[in-house]
Amino acid sequence: MSTAPGTDAGDSGSLAGRLAEVTGRVAEAARDAGRDPDAITTIVVTKFHPAALVAELAELGVLDIGENRHQEAQAKAAELGDLELRWHFVGQLQSKKARQVRAYASAIHSVDRAALVDALRSDEASVDCFVQVNLTEDPGRGGVAPEALESLAEHVLETAGLRLRGLMAVAPLGEPARPAFARVRAMSERLRRLEPTASDLSMGMSHDFRDAILEGATHLRIGTAITGNRPVAG
Ligand SMILES: *Cc1c(COP(=O)(O)O)cnc(C)c1O
Repeated sequence: MSTAPGTDAGDSGSLAGRLAEVTGRVAEAARDAGRDPDAITTIVVTKFHPAALVAELAELGVLDIGENRHQEAQAKAAELGDLELRWHFVGQLQSKKARQVRAYASAIHSVDRAALVDALRSDEASVDCFVQVNLTEDPGRGGVAPEALESLAEHVLETAGLRLRGLMAVAPLGEPARPAFARVRAMSERLRRLEPTASDLSMGMSHDFRDAILEGATHLRIGTAITGNRPVAG
C-alpha cells in the first residue's frame, strides 16, 4: 500500500486526486479494522506550504489543518481568518510561545511537560490538548517518557483552560510502526483509568496511517501524501 519514505508518488496528480485517494485508503483501513471511518479525523499537515494551498484544501472540504511551527501557523491563521478552519498545532512548543498558540489553535497535540501545561493555563475557553508520548529513547524527539504519563496527565486535568483529549505519538524511525502504535494504545488504556473521556489517539502520518488506524487512531496527521512534497524550507 503506502510508498516508501523518500519516493515522490505524492507529487502525482492533483491535490483533489491525492486527497480522494487518501480518503479512500483511510476508509478501507477503517473497514478492515471494523471501525467507522467517520470516527476518524484526517488533519492535513500543511507546514512549509503557502496559505493558498490551505485555502484550496478548505474548498475541497478540509477544515482540520496541522502546522508545526508557531510563526508560520500564526501567519496562515491570520491570513485565512475568514475560513472556518480548525488549526492543530503538532510541533514542539516553547513555553514562551504557548499563549500565542492558544490564541488561534483549536488543539495542541504536543503537550509534553509540566512547564508547558503551566504556560497554557487560562481562564478563557478550553483548548483541546493531547499529551505527546515519546516512543524513542531520545528525549530530543519530544514527548513525555511513558513512565511519566500519569503525572503529566494529572497535571493537565487539574489545569484551567485545558481539555485533555488523549495521546499523540510519532512512530520511531527505523522500526515497524504497528507495534509502536500498539504501545500507544496500551498507554491510552492507562490514561482512560485517570480520565475516561480522554480516549482520542493522534497518530498516523503519510507512510504509516493504515497501521495507526488498525491500532485505534482517531486523529491522523497527514502531510505529503495529500499535499505533495514540501517546498524546501527557507
Ligand atoms: C510533518 C508532520 C506530520 C505529517 O508528516 P507526513 O509524513 O508529511 O505525512 C505529522 N505529524 C507531525 C508532528 C509533523 O511534524
